[in-house]
Amino acid sequence: MDRGLNTRCLHLEETEGQINNCGALSYPIYQTATYAHPGVGRSMGYDYSRLQNPTREQLEKVVAALEGGIDAVALSTGMAAIALLMEIFEPGDHIIAEADLYGGSIRFFDNVSKKNHYEFTYLNCAGDDIEGSIKANTKAIFLETPTNPMMNISDITKIAEIAKKRGLLLIVDNTFLSPYFQNPLQLGADVVVHSGTKFLGGHNDTLAGFIVTSSPKIQEKLRFLIKTTGAGLAPFDSWLILRGIKTLGIRMERAQENAIQIARWLKEQKIVTKVFYPGLVEHPGHEIMKKQARGFGSMITFNVDTKEHALKILESVRMIKFAESLGGVETLITYPTTQTHADVPEEVRLKNGISPCTLRISVGIEDAKDLLAELESVFAKLI
Ligand SMILES: *Cc1c(COP(=O)(O)O)cnc(C)c1O
Repeated sequence: MDRGLNTRCLHLEETEGQINNCGALSYPIYQTATYAHPGVGRSMGYDYSRLQNPTREQLEKVVAALEGGIDAVALSTGMAAIALLMEIFEPGDHIIAEADLYGGSIRFFDNVSKKNHYEFTYLNCAGDDIEGSIKANTKAIFLETPTNPMMNISDITKIAEIAKKRGLLLIVDNTFLSPYFQNPLQLGADVVVHSGTKFLGGHNDTLAGFIVTSSPKIQEKLRFLIKTTGAGLAPFDSWLILRGIKTLGIRMERAQENAIQIARWLKEQKIVTKVFYPGLVEHPGHEIMKKQARGFGSMITFNVDTKEHALKILESVRMIKFAESLGGVETLITYPTTQTHADVPEEVRLKNGISPCTLRISVGIEDAKDLLAELESVFAKLI
């Protein structure tokens, strides 16, 4: 693990010195469903692409290396990854989950996991008493930090200590920072999940999801589950994500530089009542972030004074796109109330701080001056 992250985005140590597949630098797309065997009881190591596919395997090794895990499984979407992970639990199990999770995760827990008799307690993991909420049947803590969309920061090391002491699994959805800026397994988490659709893929052109673990027991369960349930990432999509990851570091750095400028600019605007960006020194999670992450990322949430202003901003953007998703090279602006968090009950949304005046920006890698010029012209029309 002494190689730098940018190197790990490009090279696998275990294949160093090997030249295969005509010397191709771009890992080949093994677009095959099945594999021929040289004889009875003999195999080339591959049987059927639901179980293993070389392109998917290459991607899984890269992601495992980036997160410092022993294994990663690549799924068709981030939600497929979360759905698969939930299969390691049993009916009657209780999970403590961050209240301000990605809306799709809450929709899954409340409508699918609960039907399977899992129990959930939603907490503000940055402040609420986690230990006091642990019950006899509690099996896991499910975190996001920063949370989506309110950018709350919880202390992974502290929560990992509680989890270890009480025999719980700590699961962290690390989508918002990517392994480039944060490695929860190294801070004591047992499992990391990703929507690979976001920063890892980085180009708003395909969907993917990952589960990374440091536990051999969980690895074994996940390998059984991916084979059995079948949502493994297709070869071509695996290749797209491999290609995206090659530039993860430079994209993350550039997007973050832009985000800092935009966060500072937003703070100065009369109609902006609050900016939630952990890179700002006044953000309550700023110091924890400095301790547990290598950067602050490029997601900014902010509140404006009225719902009308929020809607007008969404309607006026041109180069910046009014769209769901995040983590791609293009800057997107999202309305959590009707988009990412539409299925979260209104009272829960409001309790978490998501109001009709709340907007979320995923800052891309355009020239900062052009992003600021666009925002300036959009805001100028509001006054
Ligand atoms: C987008 C997202 C997901 C879901 O991933 P998909 O690839 O869209 O299925 C999960 N968690 C977070 C934090 C996300 O932003």
